[in-house]
Amino acid sequence: MFKMMIWGVDFEQDLRPLIKAFYPGCDFAVQKEEIRENIGDTAEWLAFLGRCYPQVREGRTENGGLLKVQETGKGEEPPWGQRAAEDGKNEEPAFVPDFAFYLTGEEGYMAVRTGEVWLADAFFGIRRQDDRRGYKNALMRPLYQLLEEVSGVHLPWGILTGIRPTKQVLAQLEEGIPEEEIARFMREEYFCTEEKIATSLDVARTEHGILQGIDYRDGYSLYIGIPFCPSTCYYCSFTSYPVAAYGGRMEEYLEALFKEIRYAGGRGAVPGKSLQTIYVGGGTPTTLSESQLDRLFTCMEEHLDMSRVQEITVEAGRPDSITKEKLSVIRAHGISRISINPQTMKQETLDLIGRRHSVEEIEKTFYLARSLGFDNINMDMILGLANETPGDVAETLARIGKLAPDNLTVHTLAIKRAARLNTNREEYEGLKAQGVQEMLRLSREFAAANGYHPYYLYRQKNMTENLENVGYAKPGKEGLYNILIMEEKQSIIAVGAGATTKYVMPKQDQIERVENVKSLKDYIERIDEMIERKEHFMSGHRGEL
Ligand code: SF4
Repeated sequence: MFKMMIWGVDFEQDLRPLIKAFYPGCDFAVQKEEIRENIGDTAEWLAFLGRCYPQVREGRTENGGLLKVQETGKGEEPPWGQRAAEDGKNEEPAFVPDFAFYLTGEEGYMAVRTGEVWLADAFFGIRRQDDRRGYKNALMRPLYQLLEEVSGVHLPWGILTGIRPTKQVLAQLEEGIPEEEIARFMREEYFCTEEKIATSLDVARTEHGILQGIDYRDGYSLYIGIPFCPSTCYYCSFTSYPVAAYGGRMEEYLEALFKEIRYAGGRGAVPGKSLQTIYVGGGTPTTLSESQLDRLFTCMEEHLDMSRVQEITVEAGRPDSITKEKLSVIRAHGISRISINPQTMKQETLDLIGRRHSVEEIEKTFYLARSLGFDNINMDMILGLANETPGDVAETLARIGKLAPDNLTVHTLAIKRAARLNTNREEYEGLKAQGVQEMLRLSREFAAANGYHPYYLYRQKNMTENLENVGYAKPGKEGLYNILIMEEKQSIIAVGAGATTKYVMPKQDQIERVENVKSLKDYIERIDEMIERKEHFMSGHRGEL
């Protein structure tokens, strides 16, 4: 359990993921207090600290801010608590830090503190009101250095904990800032390693080139969610309902979905923009029968303006849901971009993570899709799966290499709260993978050696070792939708249970989200309300999209 104490600082949401990156799996208790400006000048403050906490290690940050670390024994209270109790007359600790936290557990407490906010302002030379990001980074950098020292862990992305680390790099490239300057910024502002800087630049360069070739400002995209799967994978945190239990509601679901698609093609379309990409994801869209798939694509063709659509992707996903008939239906509707996702080519792992198909089925399905004319096939793999070693990943890569898909998306395992891996922790105890950074290196080298280049990159919360997901593609096979969604370049209307629509409002430099309910039952019963939510947003913002 992490207890994080924050005095008068509204950066809890920013500090929390950084601490989590160092201490994954920690729970947090957060306590906020008001700032009390009752400390005199710096010298007085330092003298005060020395008297109160003689064992405290102290140091200065690069900006001159003051940092304090104290490790106490198991079961001991953090120092400010002790002091309050010891001197009796002092109800509250006289010293009020800017922010502080302590870690409780087998090792005892670890207490960390910095100066008060007004001191921090003076030390960091940035006023919060003027530059929120600058101020936040100035707080995070010393915290990072301190946690690095205390934990011995080095995070390759430094203080960058956000989902889109390449977004800023792309923005800077678009502004014409030289790459060396961007690299320096990533190094000094965020503490990224040279390897992550190089990857970000590679990705942003490719994105920049692709985006320059399309009229993305005049377009929007559509996401269609099919929330059914053959079974539930142990790491899954998506909206997914196993077919065995929920297959009986598929027809009702489609009825509601078709209604939402009809809306998206009519009043729900983004005014003055044309539909450019469509992504059918989930869940596993190929859990639908061939006739249901056929009706889905027919509904799209009849109710959406497909005249300027440049790309349609169907995430077939699980090989245990794919048949020749279903693939033929997809091809018959002119779609040639699909995903067939092994995640791993190690049978024991597939069994362990709840994917009820064999390695041979993955390969057979892949060849079947190729024979039917799919010329843009993506394969997903996950690094960090239970018990896997870098050797297993090398084997997976070798088998994928023989198939030669057009895209390869390498995920690092992220364990979300709702995933079975988290809710049934005991079941998977002791099955931790070893060497995830090494696995990432192997995948990067494999990609480079086999003609793939990284073209999009993103991160999720709670990723193993705070790493990343990277999409690789053979030249010309990049998924446009992936770039548009990752870089938030255009609005994405999302239909289906659990889908989130994102309206990009360029003039305001703002993104607004409108969510659909996750529950299958609620989605079916409240479909009119889902449409109304979008309609309500659109009626107030039509001119801003
Ligand atoms: S295939 Fe994807 S959506 Fe379905 S259960 Fe597995 S992780 Fe979840």
